[in-house]
Amino acid sequence: MKLVNEKSKAGSSSFPIKELDIKSNIPAGLQRTSLTVPTLPEVEVVRHYTNLSKANFGVDNGFYPLGSCTMKYNPKINEVVANRPQFSIHPLSRENRLPLKIIYELEKYLCEITGMDAFSTQPAAGAHGELTGTMIMKAYFEKRGEKRTSVIIPDSAHGTNPASVSLCGYQPVQVRSSSAGGIDLVDLRQKMDKTVVGIMITNPNTLGIFDENILEITQIIHDHGGLCYLDGANMNPMLGIVKPRDFGIDLIHLNLHKTFSTPHGGGGPGAGPLGVIKELEAFLPNPRINENLEFENSEESIGSVHPFCGNFGILLRAYAYIRAIGAAGLRKVAENAVLNANYLKEKLKKHYHLQYDRTCQHEFVIDDSLMPNGVTTHDIAKRLIDFGFHPPTIYFPLIVKGAMMIEPTETETKENLDAFIDAMKVIKEEASDDPQKVVKAPLNAPIGRLDEVRAAREPKLTWCRDEE
Ligand SMILES: *Cc1c(COP(=O)(O)O)cnc(C)c1O
Repeated sequence: MKLVNEKSKAGSSSFPIKELDIKSNIPAGLQRTSLTVPTLPEVEVVRHYTNLSKANFGVDNGFYPLGSCTMKYNPKINEVVANRPQFSIHPLSRENRLPLKIIYELEKYLCEITGMDAFSTQPAAGAHGELTGTMIMKAYFEKRGEKRTSVIIPDSAHGTNPASVSLCGYQPVQVRSSSAGGIDLVDLRQKMDKTVVGIMITNPNTLGIFDENILEITQIIHDHGGLCYLDGANMNPMLGIVKPRDFGIDLIHLNLHKTFSTPHGGGGPGAGPLGVIKELEAFLPNPRINENLEFENSEESIGSVHPFCGNFGILLRAYAYIRAIGAAGLRKVAENAVLNANYLKEKLKKHYHLQYDRTCQHEFVIDDSLMPNGVTTHDIAKRLIDFGFHPPTIYFPLIVKGAMMIEPTETETKENLDAFIDAMKVIKEEASDDPQKVVKAPLNAPIGRLDEVRAAREPKLTWCRDEE
């Protein structure tokens, strides 16, 4: 597809740009003297962007089982609410307190869902929540005059976990997974002592397994005065069923752009609100909103991590989602997410290797170890594109070689799941009968298989007219 700049034809614009008559204070030497804007008739502009949007793949046009990312359908009612004129005002407007009320109520809902005592909506993503939570753990131990230097993180963790704790000056210490897919308690006991801040744990973890030893794990950490941080990106299968506070969690972030159906991908904006227990509340980012809808600052706060109270438009959409489906609806989300994942897992394990063969939560991990003719996970992912499916997350978690991490979410119908199962079955058959089909895939996509190494090393991110 050509760029809009390449399609541009001088003088063809439906709306010629007039000379501006604005006087500028910018020194003449710094002023732009010419600006080339693409010119096209209106209809060509509309066609260009419509076709461009159709070249994209999203939850609105197909199954998107990207493990760990919870690519559920985002109900359009969220958008309707976010477009209401009451919300097109400055969020600090004194005349309209509705945005503050919504943030205040959303914090209360998130407390109810997780069992935590207080939430801050400032963090703009999951990783940002981890960073904010680690800063709070640091402030807590500094206040207590305790010098602790490391944070325990399981080997199945998302890469943002060690990155976040490192950014705060802590050493990430890896704890092994057991053969059952949970944390190895012997290894954990060996690594936990009074120099360790605590644990950053994901439960259910990235294998989709709920760690049945979670109470013992959090007890080991607490026995040494440590804190338990839950990476709450995997909250989807626990909604209305388990409150992380009840299994010993002291801090948690949620990914509103995953579990609570707000827009996701493209780099944001997102929201990763952080919840804490009472003992840590004073450290939350400033300002907080109190019950009179006034701003309040705490002297012990770690400071502000985002302007205002976070990305309001995203918070509003999550609020609309929670209000629309209610408590019973949230529980149903979790139940159906688990049901869909287990249905897919049981069907696919007949054709693909499943290292951890047990009941899963919202996702599971298969791999390519049974594939004939050297066909790899990478090839399977590319071939799925030909069948109209977004590939699952691949080569993650790192503890499963050739991993394919599949998360169907609750919003898929049985028909969609069956179609995906059929495609996976066909790919397995092709791998033995006609492997070139899989190895050369995608064959029906607008663009064939890319040289991904070259794309990463020599990215072409700008466009220049020939004469430049
Ligand atoms: C998505 C995810 C994160 C990071 O969240 P972002 O919003 O992308 O920063 C962290 N941990 C897990 C398990 C995740 O799935």
